[in-house]
Amino acid sequence: MTIDWQKEVEARKDDLLQDLIDLLKVKSEREDDKVTADAPFGPGPRDALLHMLAYGERDGFTVKNVDNYAGHIEFGEGDETLGIFGHMDVVPAGDGWDTDPYLPVIKDNKIFARGSSDDKGPSMAAYYGMKIIKELGLPISKKIRFVVGSDEESGWGDMDYYFEKEEKPDFGFSPDAEFPIINGEKGNVSLALHLETGNTGSYTLTSFASGLRANMVPGGAKATVSAPDTEKAAALAKEFAAYTENQPITGTASVEDTTVTLDVVGKGAHGASPQSGINAATFLAGFLDGYDFAGGAKNFLHVTGAYLHEDFYGEKLTVAYEDAKMGKLTMNAGLFDFDAAQEKAFINLNFRYPQGTTLGKIEAALNTAIGEYGVTISVEPHHMTPHYVPQEDPLVATLLSVYEDHTGEKGFEQIIGGGTYGRLLKRGVAYGAMFPGYTDTMHQANEFMDLDDLFRAAVIYADAIYRLAK
Ligand code: ZN
Ligand code: ZN
Repeated sequence: MTIDWQKEVEARKDDLLQDLIDLLKVKSEREDDKVTADAPFGPGPRDALLHMLAYGERDGFTVKNVDNYAGHIEFGEGDETLGIFGHMDVVPAGDGWDTDPYLPVIKDNKIFARGSSDDKGPSMAAYYGMKIIKELGLPISKKIRFVVGSDEESGWGDMDYYFEKEEKPDFGFSPDAEFPIINGEKGNVSLALHLETGNTGSYTLTSFASGLRANMVPGGAKATVSAPDTEKAAALAKEFAAYTENQPITGTASVEDTTVTLDVVGKGAHGASPQSGINAATFLAGFLDGYDFAGGAKNFLHVTGAYLHEDFYGEKLTVAYEDAKMGKLTMNAGLFDFDAAQEKAFINLNFRYPQGTTLGKIEAALNTAIGEYGVTISVEPHHMTPHYVPQEDPLVATLLSVYEDHTGEKGFEQIIGGGTYGRLLKRGVAYGAMFPGYTDTMHQANEFMDLDDLFRAAVIYADAIYRLAK
């Protein structure tokens, strides 16, 4: 049976777009201060979840809401279940928008709104793919289940809860990345380094703070230090000005009596590619490491300035590893907090590691490399091991050939450092909806989805779901 998928999507374009617009109006940012028993991640993610599930009911699917954490929309019968995983939560809108992020605007054939490309647009395209198969009454031999999440951007608490109650589908994909396919993801783990805080040198480190999230390169850093006398305080500020001149950072120093406050601006970036940022913290610590600090303060500055500085691939930490398929381990030093008064000294390192190395090996190497500086290491929650579905797997092979048939482009495998819901299943991948060459605006101001791409993705999803489930 040949089906003109293009024509089927064409006939539903207006409906698809209207459903997407209505869904994008739901401000589904996680709000921890508004959590209630029936809104486990706040009212926004819950309302978007309910909104999506209501489409499923309207269209005659079997719908299940798992206590407002997540839900699913399904049809068909069979021994096996194909899972499709989308998420309704969004990252905060942030500043810099030209239009209201929750009042979708269509301009230059693009729809602008928070969530348009991550992940409400792609989810809606996949949902319509499934809807077309149902409406055409096509013969399928598997159950098709669209799993709707509401906490992908934070801790994946939605999926933890969902899978306590529901069986895992046998195989599937998440429309939450790019075409042709993402069939591998590196392991992802954050390690907390705890240090001592004592100051026994002639200079005193009072505080050092930097970073917003473990998976972001810190774009700013601030430290307060005390110099032995006012002359040395003035000299430190002067030497800092000279240092910033010669480094890819900007900075300011303010002096009050013997206290010097130093501010550094680097460049933020995604933690999965630390080499594309400028880590403000390691530059600041590298500068201070040249002064007579001692005790815990010295260790904190030395570990940061000497070991973590531009150690994107973990060479100085002796954890470097490269796999032929998955590429290099990367390390992002994302959070720093030294507070002498509170006796708190903490650094968070986020590792993206390929198959062939392990968390155990990384921990052991770190202990050897920096253990002598009074560092104790603990593993943060949400450790994810490397994930890979071979190209020969029928899931990957099918998805790539659907992509090739509809684009005329050669499909190829891709492995990324980030984590998508694709990794929830042993045979799970991410598939679309960004096409090669697309401008990635996920998590940014003026996020958009190109409408031609949206409909093109719906065509691909419809055919892919049918070929996987027939
Ligand atoms: Zn996403
Ligand atoms: Zn996202």
